[in-house]
Amino acid sequence: MTTNKPATELHCPLCGNSKATVISELDSFGFKVRYYLCQTCGFVFQNPGESAAADPAFYEETYRQLYQATEEPTAKDLRQQRLRAEYQLNLIQNHGVCRLWRALDIGASSGTLMQTIHEAYGAEMIGVEPGKAYRQLAEEKGFKVYPSLELLQSGETAKFDLVTMMHVLEHLEDPLGTLGEIRTDLLEDHGFLLVEVPNFYAHDSYELAHLSCFTEHTLTEMLKQAGYKIMHTRKHGYPRSEMLELYLTVLAIPEREPAESLRIIPERNVALKRSLGTLKRKLLTKLMPGKTWLPQEDQA
Ligand SMILES: [Zn+2]
Repeated sequence: MTTNKPATELHCPLCGNSKATVISELDSFGFKVRYYLCQTCGFVFQNPGESAAADPAFYEETYRQLYQATEEPTAKDLRQQRLRAEYQLNLIQNHGVCRLWRALDIGASSGTLMQTIHEAYGAEMIGVEPGKAYRQLAEEKGFKVYPSLELLQSGETAKFDLVTMMHVLEHLEDPLGTLGEIRTDLLEDHGFLLVEVPNFYAHDSYELAHLSCFTEHTLTEMLKQAGYKIMHTRKHGYPRSEMLELYLTVLAIPEREPAESLRIIPERNVALKRSLGTLKRKLLTKLMPGKTWLPQEDQA
């Protein structure tokens, strides 16, 4: 247990309880980052106030530089985004998303997924992207992109029949609350939600701006708590690895009659499963480096 007093009271983002032990402490971008394991439900999370409390101004600046990059995206970035977008399109096309009129991409980056969906379905696309350089690239593709969810909500009244969130949920202070808001305020009753996050049992996951670490179990529980029904879950490494299930991608729909209070099924042996996952990643990296980590640039 730690002797440092947390800057703000601990609060599990999944179950809301405050009983948690430290599962890991590390340095990330010059900050001491501490992850807690909830003793009630098994969720792994940071107490966001802690890193920021050390030096709020520096934290704000570092965070902004890291996650709202003002630099131009690299060719490598754009290639990864294109491969991801094709993969995600394939997933929704094969799991019941037949028609789309209006879709929203939260964390739209350079607009690659928006463009891919638009070309496949002819849907009107709206995006949310805080990073200025990325947002401009998406706007150049002809899409309307808001810098924040708040501005989107004040600017758009019509709902969406698809909301996508690729590598966004793990950055949010209140992922459960945001998922609930999307269901009640943004998504049509017949709409779909597509979410992708790093898989805590295969991906390193630990990083200053990753406030939550998801497993298939805890992501499922959080979506259920937020009033969704899971249609399809895929654990995969695309486009980074053939061997490691680095990512969790889930397609969900709003529950017709969401339960008032739904018991959270706790996840057990989280620390052990994490250790085994880390060991597997290390072994495969050593034994089969070429399949474990695919090239990030196109081969000549
Ligand atoms: Zn919990």
